[in-house]
Amino acid sequence: MKLLADVDSILQGVGVYRDRYRGGERLVRSPLTGETIAQVEDANPDSVTEAIGQSEKAFLAWRSLPAPRRGEFVRVLGEELRAAKTELGRLVTIETGKILSEGHGEVQEMIDICDFAVGLSRQLYGLTIASERPHHRMMEQWHPLGPVGIITAFNFPVAVWSWNAALALVCGDPVIWKPSEKTPLTALAVEALVRRAVERFGGAPAGLSTVLIGGREIGEMLVDDPRVPLVSATGSTAMGQIVGRRLARRFARAILELGGNNASIVCPSADLDLALRAIAFAAVGTAGQRCTSLRRLFVHRDTYDALVDRLKQVYATVQIGNPLTSSTVLVGPLIDGVAFHRMQEVLAEARKLGGQVVGGDRFETAPYPAAHYVRPALVEMPGQIGPVLQETFAPILYVMKYSDFDEALALHNAVRQGLSSSIFSTDVHEIEKFLSVAGSDCGIANVNIGPSGAEIGGAFGGEKETGGGREAGSDAWKAYMRRVTSTINFGKDLPLAQGVKFEV
Ligand code: NAD
Repeated sequence: MKLLADVDSILQGVGVYRDRYRGGERLVRSPLTGETIAQVEDANPDSVTEAIGQSEKAFLAWRSLPAPRRGEFVRVLGEELRAAKTELGRLVTIETGKILSEGHGEVQEMIDICDFAVGLSRQLYGLTIASERPHHRMMEQWHPLGPVGIITAFNFPVAVWSWNAALALVCGDPVIWKPSEKTPLTALAVEALVRRAVERFGGAPAGLSTVLIGGREIGEMLVDDPRVPLVSATGSTAMGQIVGRRLARRFARAILELGGNNASIVCPSADLDLALRAIAFAAVGTAGQRCTSLRRLFVHRDTYDALVDRLKQVYATVQIGNPLTSSTVLVGPLIDGVAFHRMQEVLAEARKLGGQVVGGDRFETAPYPAAHYVRPALVEMPGQIGPVLQETFAPILYVMKYSDFDEALALHNAVRQGLSSSIFSTDVHEIEKFLSVAGSDCGIANVNIGPSGAEIGGAFGGEKETGGGREAGSDAWKAYMRRVTSTINFGKDLPLAQGVKFEV
């Protein structure tokens, strides 16, 4: 009852209409207690078609507004997010189970990307290029693209939307969001904050930002609609395989942000105190439910016992439980029973292959029999085999010994995913090799920090089965615009490129 009242007060506080979260057919559960906290209504084929039509119309108006003015809208949105940070962060915790500090951190990330996008709105520039023809000039321009579909996963229920939306909006594109069916409430809260921003801004077209609640079938409608030129989809590799193919069929653009199987290498020269803290955060933080969570750890045999003994102590003492009832909790629940059973299956498989498992069992929290709390699992593996090669979205850390740095590097890259990676070392040769072309094959390669916890200033994403997409900082904005190359002749003659002669 208390959680229900909490949710109601947050949603009312940010301005969500009560009929958006009461009386619908889809039950929303909090992983903190397993209880139903809301009932939302799914979109249907008609409402999806209409929403995309509205978005298409909004595009015609929005694309003509000067980009710095579009940036002004994103600035106002950032202000609304700042004002609602405490409540929205708490709702993220209630809906995903992550600790409050991470819930608030997720909203901070939304604010950060809004700030970034505001600056970007005055920097959407192309190049002027030297022409080989006399009295000619070449240039490129970046134009808005059209409605952008955004499909998001449960584990970062709002930040991933903002990475895409803040950029798309300053680039001149309306956004249509299909949030995870497991976390619709945070999406409804953001929808209400966007509405406030629209009211304060004045002059934003209807349909500039839309939320479509529902499961994969709603996502598929976005993916298949020719009026949506770009879909950014975040989730499992299995989802990306379907979405990627469907988008390719109609030559639409895709930003795919899929699963990771992230590793760290701990070298003999590493600062072990620092490595221990970084590994703990990356492996057990967010209950192992980050795409960048640390899943594979390669430790040099001279350092192995010292580090692994200390890691076991951390695993034995880390506080697990409901983050709303204790401020010392560092590990919240898994999202649901499916995730719990999958974790148990995978641990059984690891044991069969000779893995020595510490933890991984259900952590009984008596007041919440319907919730799924687990002790994080540390698994010493005889080699990189079986489940080590796949992503299990749970707190399982596989630890393996190595003797030779190049062997560790080869093992590091010998998986199908390529999101994030890190090295703990003070040896410049090892560090630079890890970062070099012959080093980590991931989209993110860190030194003396773990693989998780990205900042928005850099481009975020990964290679191989992680999908190849890039979002957030650097020049990721270019994916949301179309490039036009123009050649201008300001002379009286018509010289042709490559010296071609064509006299008529
Ligand atoms: P999921 O694949 O089950 O669902 C993600 C989203 O895709 C949901 O909104 C879902 O409804 C939608 N979806 C599923 N099938 C679809 C289809 N055929 N067409 C259109 N939409 C479809 O993932 P999840 O369990 O919510 O999230 C966990 C996964 O997401 C992990 O694999 C994690 O690594 C990954 N993830 C990746 C990143 C990244 O940036 N690389 C970030 C967060 C999460």
